[in-house]
Amino acid sequence: MKQNKIRFIALIAILLTFGFSVTSLTSYYAAHESLSKQISETALPLTSNNIYSEIQRDLLQPIFISSLMAQDTFMRDWTLSGEKDSSQMIRYLKEIQSRYNTVTTFFVSEETKKYYHPDGVLKTLSHIDPLDDWYYNFRDSGKEYEINLDFDTAHPSDLTVFINYRVHDYAGRFIGATGVGLSVEKIQQRIVTYQKRYGRRVSFIDRDGTIMLSNTDSYRGSSIRKTPGIDKLATQILASPSGTFSFHRDGKTVHLNSRLVEEFQWYLLVEQEEESVEGKISDNLTSNLLISIIISIVVIILANITINRYQSKLENMATTDKLTGVANRHVFDAIFDQITKTAKRQGRPVSFAMLDVDHFKKINDQYGHNAGDLVLKTITSVINERLRDSDTICRWGGEEFLILLPECDITRATRICEEIRRAIEKRVIIYAEHEISVTASIGITEMQQGEAALPLIKRVDDALYEAKKTGRNKVSISYPSP
Ligand code: GH3
Ligand code: MG
Ligand code: MG
Repeated sequence: MKQNKIRFIALIAILLTFGFSVTSLTSYYAAHESLSKQISETALPLTSNNIYSEIQRDLLQPIFISSLMAQDTFMRDWTLSGEKDSSQMIRYLKEIQSRYNTVTTFFVSEETKKYYHPDGVLKTLSHIDPLDDWYYNFRDSGKEYEINLDFDTAHPSDLTVFINYRVHDYAGRFIGATGVGLSVEKIQQRIVTYQKRYGRRVSFIDRDGTIMLSNTDSYRGSSIRKTPGIDKLATQILASPSGTFSFHRDGKTVHLNSRLVEEFQWYLLVEQEEESVEGKISDNLTSNLLISIIISIVVIILANITINRYQSKLENMATTDKLTGVANRHVFDAIFDQITKTAKRQGRPVSFAMLDVDHFKKINDQYGHNAGDLVLKTITSVINERLRDSDTICRWGGEEFLILLPECDITRATRICEEIRRAIEKRVIIYAEHEISVTASIGITEMQQGEAALPLIKRVDDALYEAKKTGRNKVSISYPSP
């Protein structure tokens, strides 16, 4: 029975644990999945679009200014007529610089290779100076314009974003390059602003994967091909004009949206780590599991209490007489075993008494069965009142009770049974308007050392028979034959 109970409780525990774990984990993964989807399919592309339009607004103006300069008839005429008066070009560049508030403006003549700047003619470009490579590269690239990150020729320590624009004569021949320079710091600040506004990491890379602008200075100039995490995706990112990717960095999932900004031929990269929002989902999982554990414990405790109650009720039903509440005949063997063992160990006497109500049939006949029941209940309580806790009454048959009296010799048993007999005799039982009086006959005997139940019962039965035979309402003793 106990093993069954443990098995049943374990089964409940396993079922609850399994059920709760499956539902908690399923909802965790579902939330996780939809979060990833939401970031990569909605949030990041949206941010990317917003930044794209802002950067266009911020950078298109300088491209436009450079284009105006390249188309300017003064610039072309002055160059074509032999760059006679440098001060005119210098003044022109100064004018543009102050009007549009750019960091720098410049013009390089293809003919003379002179670098004109608002401060004067700074240098003559040369093939052998690596600092001048940008010009030759641009010239040979055939591009209408380009955005280039470089150190300023006028202030070699300042990193500047240059917009280089081709200048052509009226016949379309290349005659030089002009443009404006913007402070990298300013653009950098814009990126930090985007980053703050959208809560995402923003950077720009060129078509080769070199990081041109990033809020982290240390990344600038390095290639995404060498940036941990993103390196494996570099080829994929650079192969298509836009894309959605995810990779792992420092143990976290990072979602990345890339988009080619045609005007600069740069890629805009927007990244978001999943961790920041995932924390909430994980917290949710923890509290779900915690609630599940509490519910499981409560259910198991309740199941345990219910089973225990049910079990003791069943046990009671099996061992107790329903009418009188005393032990029934089934428990006699167990009680007999226990009492005889203790008696043997302690060497103390045990006595047995068999009580039978006299002419009980008549009571049933005269007052009805319910009256008979009441008499039986009353008699058991009268007997009980005169017994010790260690004594046991056992309903042996209809109106027959066996009384087990441990640590009690025949003399004491006689006295107790006499008292019981007298008490029953005196007791008036009120049933409806009737006053019922009954008597009982009792046979007693003392158990012999190591004696079995059968001869003992026989002897006590004999004693009872003797009492009945010799007039009822009396106590008879049966001594074991020597
Ligand atoms: P005696 O003095 O010789 O013992 O006579 P008696 O009438 O008591 O003996 P008998 O054994 O002939 O009758 C016992 C009656 O007890 C028979 C039965 O109908 C009745 N009886 C047995 N169990 C119950 C019970 O639970 N309730 C009631 N009301 N009567 C019961
Ligand atoms: Mg009787
Ligand atoms: Mg009887």
